[in-house]
Amino acid sequence: MSGRFESLRASSLYCRRCGQAMPVRERLLLVLPDKEIYDYLCTGCADSLGEREVTAGELLRARGAGRPRGR
Ligand SMILES: [Zn+2]
Repeated sequence: MSGRFESLRASSLYCRRCGQAMPVRERLLLVLPDKEIYDYLCTGCADSLGEREVTAGELLRARGAGRPRGR
């Protein structure tokens, strides 16, 4: 079964500890009224490789049109 990902995000980042680009796991770090902050963790050593802020507008787009969510 070839699943289709809902959105293409950074799927791999360079990890200093692993010495190569590693697949990352997106982890919800903080939820604010107008944005959410995600942490990118290396799937190899679980080191944090970066953060990403997603604004409310982006979230609405990312979650797909026609499917209002929240509350
Ligand atoms: Zn790593």
